[in-house]
Amino acid sequence: MTSYRPDIHNIRVTVWNEYRHERQNERVAKIYPHGIHAAIAAALREKGLTVRTATLDEPEHGLSTDVLNNTDVLIWWGHMAHKEVRDDIVARVQQRVLDGMGLIVLHSGHFSKIFRTLMGTSCDLKWRESDDSERLWVVAPGHPITEGLGEYIEIEREEMYGEHFDVPPPETLVFISWFSGGEVFRSGCCYTRGRGKIFYFRPGHETLPTYHHPDVQRVIANAVLWTAPVPGAPRTFGNTPALRRSSRK
Ligand code: ZN
Repeated sequence: MTSYRPDIHNIRVTVWNEYRHERQNERVAKIYPHGIHAAIAAALREKGLTVRTATLDEPEHGLSTDVLNNTDVLIWWGHMAHKEVRDDIVARVQQRVLDGMGLIVLHSGHFSKIFRTLMGTSCDLKWRESDDSERLWVVAPGHPITEGLGEYIEIEREEMYGEHFDVPPPETLVFISWFSGGEVFRSGCCYTRGRGKIFYFRPGHETLPTYHHPDVQRVIANAVLWTAPVPGAPRTFGNTPALRRSSRK
């Protein structure tokens, strides 16, 4: 028996970005002139995916019911404006995840309302902006998210995130990061919530060119395939009649 793998050409991706750093900080704009979302979207389109983008300052943050209903996988990057994301839209995204939409949460998205809602914990961690390098070790080599990678991914410069990371234990841990400053971190965490799959992927500090790194792009594309909805039996809830009368007297 082979496992089901969705066709890359049938998956509709929405890349969501708060898109504030790029418009306020020249250093960030130099690395991502059209925004982090545009860089990620371009890399995914090159791999054959159908991609749209959405940003915080669009009406409904670009996440109308219609957009979400036509999204198989939502990618989330946020940092400085988590609090500005409307609660009713967070609830809308959460419901879509429970109904089967995939969600990929990147870097500082660990503190987004949607990730904290779905995890149910603080999602807090240690951090340091310094001259650290990062090595993400593959610790689940059989997992589809690691397809095409070597034993590890090396990122020359990255912000450090350190344990303890206050999330529920991942159902599968795909990467553990080691930082040159000495810390470690659970950098690739898989979850399911309802019918939806969630992948948290750590790298991606805005002042560094991480989303131009080919292995980082590969992981995000692999994660799109892994989190994309798959066929299955319908879910039925609520009061229900017996299928037959009980034989017990
Ligand atoms: Zn950062």
